Amino acid sequence: MRSDLLSMFPEELSELCVSLGQPKYRGKQIFEGLYKGKRELSEFTSLPKAFRDSLEENAFIPTADIKRKLVSKIDGTVKYLYELHDGNTVESVFMRYHHGNTMCISTQVGCRMGCAFCASTKAGLVRSLMPSEMLLQILEAERDLGERVSNIVLMGMGEPLDNYDNVIKFLKLVNHEGGLNIGLRHISLSTCGLVDKIDRLADEGLPVTLSISLHAPNDEIRRQTMPIANKWSIKQLLDACRRYTDKTSRRISFEYALIAGVNDSRENAHELGRLLTGMLCHVNLIPVNPIKEKNFQRSEKNAIKVFTETVETYKISATVRRRLGSDINASCGQLRASDLEEG
Ligand code: SAH
Repeated sequence: MRSDLLSMFPEELSELCVSLGQPKYRGKQIFEGLYKGKRELSEFTSLPKAFRDSLEENAFIPTADIKRKLVSKIDGTVKYLYELHDGNTVESVFMRYHHGNTMCISTQVGCRMGCAFCASTKAGLVRSLMPSEMLLQILEAERDLGERVSNIVLMGMGEPLDNYDNVIKFLKLVNHEGGLNIGLRHISLSTCGLVDKIDRLADEGLPVTLSISLHAPNDEIRRQTMPIANKWSIKQLLDACRRYTDKTSRRISFEYALIAGVNDSRENAHELGRLLTGMLCHVNLIPVNPIKEKNFQRSEKNAIKVFTETVETYKISATVRRRLGSDINASCGQLRASDLEEG
């Protein structure tokens, strides 16, 4: 199988070069070239022609071409639909915040977690992304916009912890000083709660912010919308979160999509408050984005206010997520879904 050059560390590239009869330092040369934007082996003009030819035979550089691009007229948020080398498509969103540019990237084509409110999972999992394909979502947006990305959220399509090894490699590559050099503290990984993988992540020594898609204050409600709740209870999940905080000293961020009549009552807020009391955490309340297939409605304005204030009485910080790019369907999964339908 040909090696995917953009998924490799400089040391791995060096090994490849040596195996092809070249000096070790060529590995670093290739690594640097990739992050300078070279996407064809023919662009590596400082490499001997014969070596480039043997690279063509043994390796390749994956691509992500911009298939569609939507720019919000409201806040400048940019949404990309990328086409990968095999014709599959993934979505990413570029957002401008006061603390820097944030890129929300996908980790899989589709998803197999099956959350009832989510557009990404409707057609199941097609395949997981390679580290390079996660990197390209950032690199191609930076190139297109002429701007740097300083923060990354793994909150696009897919379940990052269901693509564990590739996501870990991506995190190390994105953090590499010769690459994008983005600090791990500027990266958030969002998961629906794969408890065993959260424990593995805690031991990696990669202090990313962990974001947990909780979306319910008890197991009964959670099981109605999130199949993963049948595998692990909220108690097991929160215990894993506590272990994560113990090991990394990182505050956990809980995502809670407010769905009218499902999880947004005052009693639900009290339950959530009791549940999270004493945890080093923050709660992000997100009025649910209705998707076509499901009749979920966003909570009323007043219900959102009451919910937020009730949670805060437990001395838990809670904010209602500002909706960026609301005019361009910026929630992930929706653009790919509509593109698939249009063919
Ligand atoms: N699989 C990971 C990351 C991708 S989803 C996870 O589950 O966390 C990113 C976030 O968007 C998750 O919190 C997810 O639950 C939420 N989400 C998905 N569909 C949504 C919708 N229709 N409205 C609001 N939030 C949604």
